[in-house]
Amino acid sequence: MEPNMTSLIMIFGATGDLAKRKLFPSLYRLFERGKLSEQFAVIGVARRQLSNDGFQQSVKESVAAALGEKGNLDQFASHFYYQSHDVSDSDSYISLKKLADEIDEHYHLNGNRIFYLAMAPEFFGTIALHLKADGLTDVTGYKRLVIEKPFGHDLESAKELNKQIRTAFSEEEIYRIDHYLGKEMVRNIEVIRFANAIFEPLWNNRYISNIQITSSETLGVEERGRYYDSSGALRDMLQNHMLQIVALLAMEPPISLTTDEIRSEKVRVFRSLRTIESHEISDYFVRGQYGEGIINGEQVPKYRDEPMVDTESNTETFVAGKVMIDNFRWAGVPFYIRTGKRMETKSTKVVIQFKDIPMNLYYQPEKMLNPNLLVIHIQPEEGLTLHLNAKQAGGHLNAQEVKLSFSNSGTYTMNTPEGYEKLLFDCMRGDATNFTHWDEVAYSWAFVDKISQVWARTKADFPNYPSGSMGPEAADRLLEKDGYHWWPITDLEVENCR
Ligand code: NAD
Repeated sequence: MEPNMTSLIMIFGATGDLAKRKLFPSLYRLFERGKLSEQFAVIGVARRQLSNDGFQQSVKESVAAALGEKGNLDQFASHFYYQSHDVSDSDSYISLKKLADEIDEHYHLNGNRIFYLAMAPEFFGTIALHLKADGLTDVTGYKRLVIEKPFGHDLESAKELNKQIRTAFSEEEIYRIDHYLGKEMVRNIEVIRFANAIFEPLWNNRYISNIQITSSETLGVEERGRYYDSSGALRDMLQNHMLQIVALLAMEPPISLTTDEIRSEKVRVFRSLRTIESHEISDYFVRGQYGEGIINGEQVPKYRDEPMVDTESNTETFVAGKVMIDNFRWAGVPFYIRTGKRMETKSTKVVIQFKDIPMNLYYQPEKMLNPNLLVIHIQPEEGLTLHLNAKQAGGHLNAQEVKLSFSNSGTYTMNTPEGYEKLLFDCMRGDATNFTHWDEVAYSWAFVDKISQVWARTKADFPNYPSGSMGPEAADRLLEKDGYHWWPITDLEVENCR
């Protein structure tokens, strides 16, 4: 058993979607694997009136829905308590403190507390201020704040939010969730890079021509129209998840694997991002919004016809960009990133394209020699593929592409609780490496704000890509003008992984 795994976890927003689909199943898995001791308890906090029994029933149902029926669910759920709460009312916090103190004593939790804010972001600041003012953070053990995205709407609002939560928690006590950092293959990037003699020497502008990161969804905006229409793909995906992947791919080897060393190398990448001036945005970034189309054989509506979306909405549901990292290692290597909703396929992949060899000695019918590619498959399949050229069997010295594939035997379905399980475990152990530091948040907002400010001022010609496609044509031209093209995602699948 890890030290200090005893903890009282308070989940604010415990009747919400995130708690039910991700947090309860993840806690259960930790419990099932013996990673939680008997000394843990959870207080679910939310607006509605609910008894402890009613809450425990909902916890059991959530776990069963995610993981199937389990024998020890009653034992697990017995650690859960419920408190109905109004986030802006001090009396609510005072009752919560009383309950927390009683539970702490009952389970011998040594005053260790994790406050998990799984609610709408407008409440984050208020809750943090009350936690301090009403004495909930006044503990003898550790206190940690886990905070969901979005962390602000732009740099200014992020600063304001940070100021509020810093009144109650120090930077070391704040765990800003980026659930992509819980994904197995995202965590694998540093191991692939720094544990392989055949990659690290080539991992620079002398051998790599470009890097492509795609995160595509087939889903539309679903029931998140109200939030999404004021956010868009740039803020919802690129500012956090996509730029975090860029940082992991581009960072220098850290001196050691400590939280501070890794984070400071990532921050140096953010500091090296080329600043794009307002008049240059269209040279580097493309926005899109889905029109109607066909997904999995079904006709789907355009974004502007989705519930709670403005019928004249100027919000992008797709973004593609060229990110340049102006440092010694990466000067001249474009990192192309794209993400969008209602795209042809559901996939997150990184393609590292190596430079062409100086001369092609081998005949390949009707085409050039294929460049070497290293493909990191993040989701839904998890694995690695190395595209090489080898002699065609039997024939002359003709080269043909062969793929060396590794696939994780892990989970292959999107949005499994896996990532959250790892992140919750990390938080309980006090390991903040896979959470985002304020400096990373600030630099990435500064980068994204330049783009969103220009886009907010100019009306786009939307919709500009049909549902079921890989985005607007302008995203293809972004690469074509540099002499590249997007590697077709559907041709890159890891073989034998399902
Ligand atoms: P939700 O709307 O399903 O749940 C919100 C919760 O907050 C409910 O438990 C509700 O009772 C509670 N609440 C709302 N107003 C309250 C008030 N005034 N006082 C007390 N409780 C109140 O939201 P969600 O989908 O669970 O998302 C929660 C957070 O997690 C958001 O920041 C969201 O952006 C983030 N997030 C969610 C997901 C997901 O898969 N659902 C994924 C990534 C991030």
